[in-house]
Amino acid sequence: MATERTLSIIKPDATKRNLTGKINAKFEDAGLRIVAQKRIHLTPAQAGEFYKVHAERPFFAELRDFMASGPVVVQVLEGDGAIAKNREVMGATNPKDAAPGTVRADFAESVGENSVHGSDAPETAAEEIAYFFAGLELVG
Ligand code: ATP
Ligand code: MG
Repeated sequence: MATERTLSIIKPDATKRNLTGKINAKFEDAGLRIVAQKRIHLTPAQAGEFYKVHAERPFFAELRDFMASGPVVVQVLEGDGAIAKNREVMGATNPKDAAPGTVRADFAESVGENSVHGSDAPETAAEEIAYFFAGLELVG
């Protein structure tokens, strides 16, 4: 499998509960390497731009305001098949459906406040990485 990079976000519900290190340990234990990382506080406009693919969904305003409600940790994870592997480690969107031991099973509070984001395909991974990071900030 090819080496890939994917964009991960540790969401405000998780930073608020001081879970950054525990979540990063799950990524690293799965063989994902954190090659860039920073803690930022998005404005509602920045959060809305990031999740614009969901602009027509009924939960969009809630999602945008939640993502701007506190600090997030944005990061680039690298590894073999990193996009799919990260989504495996994250678990299903709704924590009630997430497999035991996944980030969302262990930490998510609800389908909306679900602790992590991960890119879903190579094209979105490239776009999302470029939204937050300059090439020089990625140190593999
Ligand atoms: P993400 O894109 O954050 O990695 P995902 O790909 O598992 O999550 P998506 O369908 O892309 O899920 O939804 C994006 C985000 O929107 C979810 O992670 C969650 O925070 C929020 N969301 C999704 N469905 C709902 C819902 N029914 N009610 C409230 N929020 C929701
Ligand atoms: Mg998604």
